[in-house]
Amino acid sequence: MLLFVRHLLGLAVLFMFPAVGQAAEAIDRVGNPVLLTALLVTGAVIGSGLLVMLVLHLDAASFRRLQTIFTDLPLAVAIIRRKDGTLLYANKRCCELIGVRKLGSRYRYPDEITAQMMCDYLRPLPYRRGFQNAPEALRIKPGHTLSLAVSGQPIRFKWQAAWLLYLSQPPQQPASPDQLEQEQRIFQQVLNSLSELVYYQNNRGEIIGTNKAFNRFWRGRFEEGVMEDENTASSLHPLHTWTTAPDGTSRLLETNKTQLIDDHGEVIGTLSISHDVTDWHDMQESLQQEIEKREITEQALAQRSSLLNTIFEASSDPIGLYNEHGIYVGCNEPFARALGYTQQTLLGKSAADVLEPDKWEEFQEADRQVLEEGKTVKADDYVILEDGTPVWYEMVKTPYRDPTDGVPGVLVMARDVTERRMAEQQLADAIMELEEMSFVDSLTKVANRRYFDEQLRKLWHSHIREQKPLTLILCDIDSFKAFNDNYGHQQGDYALREVAKVFRDVIRRETDEVARYGGEEFAFLLPNTDQTGGLVVAEKVHQQLAAQGIVHEYSGVGNQLTVSLGVATITPLPTQDYGDLVEMADIALYKAKAAGRNCTMVMTGGDHA
Ligand code: GH3
Ligand code: MG
Ligand code: MG
Repeated sequence: MLLFVRHLLGLAVLFMFPAVGQAAEAIDRVGNPVLLTALLVTGAVIGSGLLVMLVLHLDAASFRRLQTIFTDLPLAVAIIRRKDGTLLYANKRCCELIGVRKLGSRYRYPDEITAQMMCDYLRPLPYRRGFQNAPEALRIKPGHTLSLAVSGQPIRFKWQAAWLLYLSQPPQQPASPDQLEQEQRIFQQVLNSLSELVYYQNNRGEIIGTNKAFNRFWRGRFEEGVMEDENTASSLHPLHTWTTAPDGTSRLLETNKTQLIDDHGEVIGTLSISHDVTDWHDMQESLQQEIEKREITEQALAQRSSLLNTIFEASSDPIGLYNEHGIYVGCNEPFARALGYTQQTLLGKSAADVLEPDKWEEFQEADRQVLEEGKTVKADDYVILEDGTPVWYEMVKTPYRDPTDGVPGVLVMARDVTERRMAEQQLADAIMELEEMSFVDSLTKVANRRYFDEQLRKLWHSHIREQKPLTLILCDIDSFKAFNDNYGHQQGDYALREVAKVFRDVIRRETDEVARYGGEEFAFLLPNTDQTGGLVVAEKVHQQLAAQGIVHEYSGVGNQLTVSLGVATITPLPTQDYGDLVEMADIALYKAKAAGRNCTMVMTGGDHA
């Protein structure tokens, strides 16, 4: 660039002088003084312009050179405009020292310093001579000064009068012996206030100082308290030692050793600080034990939980849980399936929405007993699965409490008892069938109606053949409805059995039969017996029943159980039907009822006809 400008100047001079010469010649020729002046002025302007450019260039170039020197100088350097204190330049060290910021090509003072402050500070200082270590400190805010050593030199910077300032930290005043003594006293007091055991040694290992805690702990046995191990001085890790405290207890001390280094970086001794970490150690130990215990418990719990989960999931029996609000909180697949859901779709639903309304109502009573009274309740449930299969479940409902939030609920375990139920039903049917096939009435143990009908048919035919009288007595207990109504059905059954027992006693002849004809009605079939014989039997029935004395306060006849009897006797003809005999006995019985009960009425073949 410099070379380029030099060439430019050379050229200008070369061109300018011939031009001026030529111009003068031209003027001579022309003889015009105005033109001559104009030419001279133009030449002068161009020449001085080129000169200014050159000087400016030289100024900028020389500052750039200065800047490269200043930038990394360990001394803080600043250039400040004399006129108004504006900061024109600050090197790196200066930026660090007083906190100058560089914004693009401009420099900014830190917030606490203004250009005006700087201007006021520099004004009284001699500009021409410059100054070494300004006597006054720079005042930054009321009552505060910037403690810096400042020297200044006048320069011209970018055509302006400026200060070149050198800034540095003021030299530290050496402390006075008084000050030193006071500092040492404070230091000792601080050490004494520590509960840690502190001592410091010089390079020869001699103890220079200890604190009170150290003296108390190691009284009479200082040697024990001093760690001889050389390695510990440089050790990064604290040293742990068990020792006995003055009160005889065992204590664990943690000791840190640090090298003491002076201002010149020389090692001048070591500082040892020990503190009692027994409680911390004990706490750590019990914490560790607690953690181990907890881990064992957690392991056991996890095992149990996974075991329960496996049982829960593997069980083919439905198992489910719902909370006190009837919300399903857990179930296995068979449970969900029994309700027509899957595990995912059932959980979170309310039993009130899932169950049929009448079943929900029925379940609520059982749930109340479980939740409020803490009872275990058994109940049967009949369910038709989605595929139409009917299933009988035997359910056990038990109280349950959620271990996480303590919300009570109901644990339902169901067992498919369909097969058992079917077997029971089949058994009942079979019993019924057997009973139908048998000839004995299961309640009274006398012959049943089936036997009676068959026997009557047989006897009827034999009596036609033999032309012998056949007598039938129909017997009906009086006011038996009232008996049942007042004493209960069970008592009624008992009375029926008692009556049947009396009737069995009445029949002496082996060929005579008594059968339960239906309900509270009995029939006596007396083969080869005429009306008189029939009446004898009838009379015995009344007598022996009276002797039995079965109480019936509501009979309307007396206060004992009585019967009404209808007797019919026929020596049958082949043209007759045994139904005729039954009908006659029935009419006779009706008559006995009509006559006031507890009596016998008779119908003969002749009557009927
Ligand atoms: P009446 O004197 O007119 O015969 O009056 P009643 O109440 O005996 O006659 P009714 O036919 O009105 O009632 C018969 C009652 O007998 C009805 C029923 O309660 C009772 N009964 C029928 N079979 C049995 C049974 O096997 N056991 C019991 N406990 N009661 C029965
Ligand atoms: Mg009756
Ligand atoms: Mg009756």
